[in-house]
Amino acid sequence: MDMEIQELKAAVVDANKELPKQNLVKYSWGNVGAIDREKGLIVIKPVGMPYDELTVENVSVTDLEGNILEGPFNPSVDLPIHAVLFKAFPKIQAIVHTHSTYATMWAQAGRDIPCYGTTHADYFYKCIPCTRQMCDEEINGDFEIETGNVIVERFKELDPMAVPGVLVASHGVFTWGTDVWDAVHKSVVLEEIAKMALGTTLLNPQIQEVPASLMEKHYARKHGPNAYFDHDDHGRGMVEHQ
Ligand SMILES: [Zn+2]
Repeated sequence: MDMEIQELKAAVVDANKELPKQNLVKYSWGNVGAIDREKGLIVIKPVGMPYDELTVENVSVTDLEGNILEGPFNPSVDLPIHAVLFKAFPKIQAIVHTHSTYATMWAQAGRDIPCYGTTHADYFYKCIPCTRQMCDEEINGDFEIETGNVIVERFKELDPMAVPGVLVASHGVFTWGTDVWDAVHKSVVLEEIAKMALGTTLLNPQIQEVPASLMEKHYARKHGPNAYFDHDDHGRGMVEHQ
């Protein structure tokens, strides 16, 4: 394997280890996967692997059909979900899946997270969407592929680069980005937004979304043609990375 894949493997290992550090996972409930689009390869955490045992030697490398190319263990059972999303969203390079507590509360409640403030508006354009419940045929069929499909269905009219994450009903959360650190960053931010939104609705059950003008303003100052507020102003909040 060449240097680029070695680098991608090292990044995926480090990004997976960041999940428990950021308190996004218990045990091995979560994974980071990344794609090399030129080579058609996915690098992902092996199934059930404790984060501190993960290394560049044991991380899984597969093709987009899920065939194992490298690594002594089976890849995460969520690999087919990652593969569906990588195929459907051509600009994303990395995906994070967790059952982080506050985001999962919204997912279990089957609720989109409304935009209640500028923290949210800075990162997600309008609500953070929740998928529909899966039907029995989907659950009993190719469950992971169908999970990917309901996410893609939810994004039929959404731009995955403007809305870099999704709640999967009754399950958990996926975020994505332009590299593993961007995807992890979105997971940390989404969890904080979910926590703030829960508190907001408890303190004021009648609260409405922020005005559209404020939503547009905050999103546009970090994204789009006239962006003047660089993402990194908020810091990546991650371990140092090269
Ligand atoms: Zn899960």
